[in-house]
Amino acid sequence: MQTPRPVLVVSIHDVSPLTRGRVGEMLADLANLGVERTSLLVIPNHHHKAPIVEDAGFCSWLRETAARGHEVILHGYYHKRPRRGGEWSQTFLTEFYTAGEGEFYDLSTREAGWRLEKGRQELQTAGLQPRGFIAPAWLLGEKAEAAVQAAGFDYTTRLKNFKDLKTGRVDDSQSLVWSVRAGWRRAASLWWNAALFRRLSRTPLLRFGLHPPDWDHPAIKGQILQLLRAALAGREVITYEDWFARSRTR
Ligand SMILES: [Zn+2]
Repeated sequence: MQTPRPVLVVSIHDVSPLTRGRVGEMLADLANLGVERTSLLVIPNHHHKAPIVEDAGFCSWLRETAARGHEVILHGYYHKRPRRGGEWSQTFLTEFYTAGEGEFYDLSTREAGWRLEKGRQELQTAGLQPRGFIAPAWLLGEKAEAAVQAAGFDYTTRLKNFKDLKTGRVDDSQSLVWSVRAGWRRAASLWWNAALFRRLSRTPLLRFGLHPPDWDHPAIKGQILQLLRAALAGREVITYEDWFARSRTR
């Protein structure tokens, strides 16, 4: 049997009416490199400020973008975690990347189910059919994961893996991701991602998780484009939806 060609999935997190202009620039830069398909992680009402249902222009832009081969994934509902206190901000590796945005980390199954249903319906109203759900900051609690599965989503991803929710199969692959909130974080990110990229040179699935603020910092954007160029030499660009479909037929 032929070994399948290794693949690359580029996802853009936090796509919403608040970030649409920047995401457009990112998509143009990526297309120039040859990355013409991405997985777009869409927030239905970003920080309670940007309901997609009230923004027909955003919805038609998203439909056109999806029609060109990009994938739309549901990414939380508001994205922000309700303040509940506790020690959580010191607890997680992913907090390094996220600043308290783990909306789906500690929701009850019922609350998670309600938000998932509402988010999906709003995307459907816009003419889009998300098959995947990815939690803000990749923080998906156990109860919330049960709700995602019950809602019928096909897959989710976390920082370190992709999970097929129909079979429970997990594919390990740590995502490259950049933290840009402070100078020291940017310096650490540049070092870390260069090392991670080398470590993942033979992985069947290579993942890049991009965020709109990455494009504010020329050194970060430069490294992302440089590593993508290197990855493209040996990999086919697909979406998470494709990865899900292909691994089911293997
Ligand atoms: Zn996010």
